[in-house]
Amino acid sequence: MIRKILIANRGEIALRIVRACRELGIRTLAVYSEADEQSLHVQLADEAICIGPAPSNESYLRADRILSAAELADVDAIHPGYGFLSENAEFAEQCESCDITFIGPKSETIRQMGHKARARETVSKAGVPIIPGSDGPVDDEKVAIKTAQKIGFPVIIKAVAGGGGRGMRIAHNAATFAKEFQSARLEAEKAFGDGSLYIEKYLENPRHIEFQILADQHGNTIHLGERDCSVQRRHQKVIEESPSPFLDKSLRNRMGKAAIKAALAADYVNAGTIEFLVDAKGNFYFIEMNTRIQVEHGVTEEATGIDLIKEQIQIASGSRLSYSQKDISLSKHAIECRICAENPAKGFIPSPGTIDLYYAPGGHGVRVDSHVYGGYTVSPHYDSMICKLITYGRTRKIALDRMYRALSEYLIRGIDTNVEFVKAVILDPAFRQGEATTSYVEEFLARAPKELFEKKPKE
Ligand code: ADP
Repeated sequence: MIRKILIANRGEIALRIVRACRELGIRTLAVYSEADEQSLHVQLADEAICIGPAPSNESYLRADRILSAAELADVDAIHPGYGFLSENAEFAEQCESCDITFIGPKSETIRQMGHKARARETVSKAGVPIIPGSDGPVDDEKVAIKTAQKIGFPVIIKAVAGGGGRGMRIAHNAATFAKEFQSARLEAEKAFGDGSLYIEKYLENPRHIEFQILADQHGNTIHLGERDCSVQRRHQKVIEESPSPFLDKSLRNRMGKAAIKAALAADYVNAGTIEFLVDAKGNFYFIEMNTRIQVEHGVTEEATGIDLIKEQIQIASGSRLSYSQKDISLSKHAIECRICAENPAKGFIPSPGTIDLYYAPGGHGVRVDSHVYGGYTVSPHYDSMICKLITYGRTRKIALDRMYRALSEYLIRGIDTNVEFVKAVILDPAFRQGEATTSYVEEFLARAPKELFEKKPKE
């Protein structure tokens, strides 16, 4: 039985986990860096332990300090959230050997699916379509270029340990390949401490559509439908929605079945996500599996009515899934905008600092997942996301109109944000018609007037 959980994360996801635990009657221990003492998750958790200075590699990435806090506070389980140690197989292994439940899949599964080239091989063997590409990693530049020629340009060079859109380069022809290969390797070494690369055919204008999986320890695996995450900037998601405006019932069914096949091939337990790219004809290809809760899980929660964090905790404590596939339907449309402390008019540079005035939107069909408040200081040490604004309703139009209304109410003074930028996207006819592919943001930025993204002067 799980009575107390250590939350090995910060920001909105740490708060989200505190909330789920409170509803389940489970005690929480927040661990925090010196920069996060004032964060809401620290204030709302039952107990809190400081684990070090602001830089992540001295606090949130320190498995030893987190495990010491876990022992000291006598917790039964650790929820890793997303990012930080959430996809670190060694950390999951250490939890297992300390007899602390890691709320996620087994460490072997994390290792298997965290190596993106091995993950491709695993799901492909199970009959899930993958993008044409190299068989495993290619470390030698000469072999790599031959492989790229065989696949056919353009190709995308990706880090086997990749994540967060880093360590990825597109090569349009043989002449530019070597340069892109070298920069991908350098970036991958720096970001992941592993410069291994693999190659895929670069698909032009695909949609990014991913499936949410839930699997218990008793062999039951279901999917909770899809999220369309095609609105991306530099391969990072900005707006996500469920259901996808592109899928019909038949394609949803086929992709959902493929996602379950992929999860079964990985011997998957807990919540996970199977990501696909989909071309204009509806051909779909696996790109990777995320073996953790996703940032954008809230749109699935609002579309299906299922609390994914509670499901994760229940699965980790050995319960059977409370739903079967036939109980799942996307009965609402939900959309999320990632609100970030950044300045779109200046190339989206981060804008940390103190929020002097803050008013979050509310009302029917609006959900605000955020750890910030008036007087809160956004630290330059972490990701710039300060809020996930989610709206939902019976139809896509209702959810979009509601999102525009909610964004118009949002008041954040003292730092720059991307609120006006996402508002412009929500109004854009191409986006509203459901036409966005992964090239959408770039195209939109090229045609949108710059003033649109600037903060309106005080009225
Ligand atoms: P990460 O793990 O860094 O998030 P992914 O493999 O999930 O990397 O890819 C992130 C994004 O990069 C995708 O959503 C898509 O926009 C783009 N991308 C990745 N692979 C391809 C590809 N083969 N062709 C076209 N775009 C791709």
